[in-house]
Amino acid sequence: MHIRPEAYVYSTRMKLRVRYAPSPTGSPHVGNLRTALFDWLIARRTGGTFIARLEDTDRDPARYKPQFIGEIAESLRYLGIEPDEWWESPGEFGAYLQSDRLDRYREVAEQLIASGKAYRCYCTREELQAIREEQIAKGLPTSYDRRHRHLTTEERENFEAEGRSFVVRLAIPLEGCTEYDDLVYGHISVENRVVEDVVLLKSTGWPTYHLAAMVDDHDMQITHVIRGEDWMPSTPQHVQLHRSMGWTPPVWVHVPLILGTDRKKLSKRHGSTQFLDFIREGYLPEAMFNFLALLGWSPGEGDREIMSAEEISSAFSLEAISRNPAVLDYDKLRWMNGEYIRKCEPDRLVQLCVPYLARAGFVSESVSEDEAAYVAKVVPLIAERMKCLSEAPAQADFFFRAPQAPDDKGRKKWFSSGRATLLLESARGAIMRSSDSLTIEAAEQAIDEAAKAAGVERGPVIHTLRTALTGRTVGPGLFELMAVLGRDEVLSRIATALTWVQPEPEPSETV
Ligand code: GLU
Repeated sequence: MHIRPEAYVYSTRMKLRVRYAPSPTGSPHVGNLRTALFDWLIARRTGGTFIARLEDTDRDPARYKPQFIGEIAESLRYLGIEPDEWWESPGEFGAYLQSDRLDRYREVAEQLIASGKAYRCYCTREELQAIREEQIAKGLPTSYDRRHRHLTTEERENFEAEGRSFVVRLAIPLEGCTEYDDLVYGHISVENRVVEDVVLLKSTGWPTYHLAAMVDDHDMQITHVIRGEDWMPSTPQHVQLHRSMGWTPPVWVHVPLILGTDRKKLSKRHGSTQFLDFIREGYLPEAMFNFLALLGWSPGEGDREIMSAEEISSAFSLEAISRNPAVLDYDKLRWMNGEYIRKCEPDRLVQLCVPYLARAGFVSESVSEDEAAYVAKVVPLIAERMKCLSEAPAQADFFFRAPQAPDDKGRKKWFSSGRATLLLESARGAIMRSSDSLTIEAAEQAIDEAAKAAGVERGPVIHTLRTALTGRTVGPGLFELMAVLGRDEVLSRIATALTWVQPEPEPSETV
């Protein structure tokens, strides 16, 4: 944790109003949910309010899809961070859909024009392109050159008469600096001459993000804007917009980006980036909550990693957000999810695994009583090795289907000598002599007997039998899995496995 000047540190007695402002132009990204979680956490910590509003003013049909609105809600619910005020349960500061507030944005744009803080720009696409090309040719940074900022009434009337459409641009002060304090990045100062007169209202009369988001943040009395660091280049414009309206800007809290383990911006190349993929792959809500909270925040108590929602909520603070980019380590997430799977209450874990087993065809969609009882015995055995729920079918397949052949390792290690036949025959005999219901204890006793009968330690019997019953050399405890499969199934699999034994040919004697 780095130390920041006192002035930036808010008081935890202050009730923060924070907002998550997703756009339905894509399936929610894991980074967006991390921001939403930070919002939720600080709202809980300070007894404040977590708001979500939909920034739905980009209606390009290639990007905007109503289904994303449902996905955003599903993600928030999955994490258990439903907003206090949002489009699904509005508070008194609505509307929570920007498309319902177009009049309000136009009103603010008009006010800014009237006070000389914004202006109409009639430049055509070609003119803007020409300005850009000229700047590139001169090696200058590209930016609108403010040429319509001081049009005379006559010039304006001429453009109107030509039937030109216009956009509204914010008139950034021409001199001085825009300064603000960021809770994560500290004091920022940017020279106004490099700040572009940003477009607030498009020629369609719809607002840009810059106008809509700032008007909403003001109207919704947002105290702290927590958002991705990629918005920092626009923050001077946002500060100026608030000031131009005579509003007090919110406290800015820019959260560092999320990188892959190769320190490059997180992308599909690294793995799933859409939050729904994590849900589908079977990452538990509590694991995602824990993992996302630690992406850029740490409790500052050494290496504490497994933390409950309550522990995180009571320790969370905005000052402890790191300035360094967070790294999404998929292996760590899988490890953490495995830990939560093993903490999971058994009945719940069974419920969670059933859809995956049904999709693999191991149980019917509407699980019968017998199937449910069987799955309840299987799941605790596979839970030890599972890192996410979608692995359940691969971990459990031999409980539902008898293996057709041993895997390579099993074949080489346990089925390539005549001893396999002796061990399997001994096991078969001992199991046949054991009680009808093959309990865990009876299974263990049978293996001990088989080892004695074959004159070997019990290790080779266990390994050979495991390969015979599961087709693999690793898996759940042998006695437990024998008890779940039952005596008849175990005997039938041993009979099949006896046909797998292929002793290596004896080395021929050299003459
Ligand atoms: N709609 C913006 C986005 O999805 C919100 C950014 C913000 O939080 O202000 O990136």
